[in-house]
Amino acid sequence: MYEALLESLRSRGVTLVAVSKTHPVEQILEIYRRGQRDFGENRVQELLQKAPHLPADIRWHLIGHLQTNKVRYIAPFIHMIHSVDSLRLLEEIEKQARKANRVIDCLLQFHIAEEETKFGLSETEAETLLQSPQYRAMRHVRICGVMGMATMTDNAQKVRTEFQHLRSLFERLRTTYFAEAPYFREISMGMSSDWEIAVEEGSTMVRIGSLIFGPRC
Ligand SMILES: *Cc1c(COP(=O)(O)O)cnc(C)c1O
Repeated sequence: MYEALLESLRSRGVTLVAVSKTHPVEQILEIYRRGQRDFGENRVQELLQKAPHLPADIRWHLIGHLQTNKVRYIAPFIHMIHSVDSLRLLEEIEKQARKANRVIDCLLQFHIAEEETKFGLSETEAETLLQSPQYRAMRHVRICGVMGMATMTDNAQKVRTEFQHLRSLFERLRTTYFAEAPYFREISMGMSSDWEIAVEEGSTMVRIGSLIFGPRC
C-alpha cells in the first residue's frame, strides 16, 4: 500500500506525512527504510518516547492538539506544528523556539467540520491573530499554511465542501497576509478515509496513518 500511495501523491507534488501514533518504533523503522522521512504524532508524550530511538533525520510533525506547557519539550527538534489554534499557543512556540535558537514552521488549524469536538480557529480568530502586534513581532515562528480535518462521514460531498472551504480560507489569507511570503504554501488536509478528495481539492500535505500502518494498536 505504501508504495502505491506514495507514487500517486508524488506525481501530484503532495507531501505524505506518515501518522505513526500508537505504532511501535520497529514499524516506523520499516517505513523509514523504504524512504519515508516525514512522520506525524498527535501526542507529545508518545513522540518524546519514540523519537530518541529513531534516526535523527526524521522530520517530526506534531498534528494533534498541543498544550502550551508541552511546547518546550518539542521545540528543540520538531519540524512542523500543524495544530496552532490560538495566539497564546503561538506565543509559547515563539518563546521556546527562541530559547532553542530555531525558527519553527507552523500551520494554523481551522475548524471546518461539523463536529464540535474538533479543534481549530474560525476565520475571524485567525485574522485577529495575524493582525495582533504580538504575532507581528515574532521572529522564531513561520506560518507556512493551514490545516483542517473534515467531518467523519460517508457523505463525500460534505467532505469535499469542507475541504473547499479550507482551500478558500488559505487563498484569502495568502492574498491578505502572506503575499510576500513564498513559504506560505501548505494545505494540510486528508487522512486515510478522505485523502483522495483532499488531493482533488488542492491538498499539499496529507496525514495518513491506518492506510500505511494498519489499524491502530
Ligand atoms: C490520527 C490522525 C490522522 C491520521 O488518521 P488515519 O485515519 O489513521 O489516516 C490525521 N490527522 C490527525 C490530526 C490525526 O490525529
